[in-house]
Amino acid sequence: MRRDKDLRILRKIWRFFWARKDERPLVKTDANGDSVPMNLNELGVCEPPDVKGKRIIIRDCMGLELLLDTFIHEQIHAAAHELLSEEWINATSSDIARNILLYFEVRLRKK
Ligand SMILES: [Zn+2]
Repeated sequence: MRRDKDLRILRKIWRFFWARKDERPLVKTDANGDSVPMNLNELGVCEPPDVKGKRIIIRDCMGLELLLDTFIHEQIHAAAHELLSEEWINATSSDIARNILLYFEVRLRKK
């Protein structure tokens, strides 16, 4: 795993890591404080805000839209840990990622 800049969300810091597509074994801390394996099909992980040294891990294997979607998705988990459903976060992060790309694509074309 490769560490990148820390992410500050609601005055808490998550250490941010990129993981290769097939990198294993990756272990994450779940909401119960248990260490559990990260599945190969999981694109990202956000450890709970009360975990010491909490991390956000994203697999570095996606196109820009899915990467942005996953990056937003995990940060929503960080901000609203256990308050929002996975389905709500999925739909919201996908819409925000698509809107960001659409907005910046249009702006860049105008210049
Ligand atoms: Zn999620």
